[in-house]
Amino acid sequence: MALAPLGIQAPETATEHRRYADFFRRNGLSRETVMRAVGLTHQRSNVYFHDLLGALQETGRFRAACGAGCAYCCNTMVSLLPPEAFYLAAHVETAFAPEDSRALIARILDHDSRHRGKSGGQRFVERAACPMLDPETKFCRVHAARPLTCRAMHSGSLTACRKAWDERNAYIPAPSHRSFFEHTQVCYNAIGYTLEDLGLEMAPLEMNAALATIWTQERAFERWLAGERVFGLTATSEIASSDAPPPN
Ligand code: SF4
Repeated sequence: MALAPLGIQAPETATEHRRYADFFRRNGLSRETVMRAVGLTHQRSNVYFHDLLGALQETGRFRAACGAGCAYCCNTMVSLLPPEAFYLAAHVETAFAPEDSRALIARILDHDSRHRGKSGGQRFVERAACPMLDPETKFCRVHAARPLTCRAMHSGSLTACRKAWDERNAYIPAPSHRSFFEHTQVCYNAIGYTLEDLGLEMAPLEMNAALATIWTQERAFERWLAGERVFGLTATSEIASSDAPPPN
């Protein structure tokens, strides 16, 4: 039996690509427009996920088991595009009191020095919690600026997440719904293709390595905007291929 339509319009890559290309054609390529594009993408993603969750729940197809303070999925590798990395770096630099901001940057740099190159599976097995996660409250300290990858995470089973965590087994899958990931992929493709067409370095990067690059290089944003290969990091798609073996 065919499932009833959800009644919400899913974005698709060609249309979104045109939309981003038009945005940069009209407004130019600058720090301000890149930041605005990422901010608008996050806002649109919030609205879409809100509507999608409501529609999935109403039709009985999916109910999110995620809740505030549950952070099992914050112990893995997070992938993001360079514009998101600059957006997140700016948030960490400006959204906190100066001493808190400095402490968080130090924590991220330390985390990167200990975990650079590790796959998501390895990080999960080692319980390498994201340095942006508050260790006491288990809240994301950069919630408003978190990457699209984090926004896409919706588990349909707390039991599955807990089992994977207890057994340190990244291969126990938590049920989710493909629409969350399809939407995220469309956003990635659209903004990625647009900025790549404009000559900018554009590959999915591991979040902490990308932030560390931004904070340890001179004028990283200006050089990236001028078309320099600033990151030169291994794309996360390559890292993921060396995943941790499943336990016996
Ligand atoms: S950025 Fe926030 S949501 Fe994403 S993994 Fe880190 S703590 Fe979790």
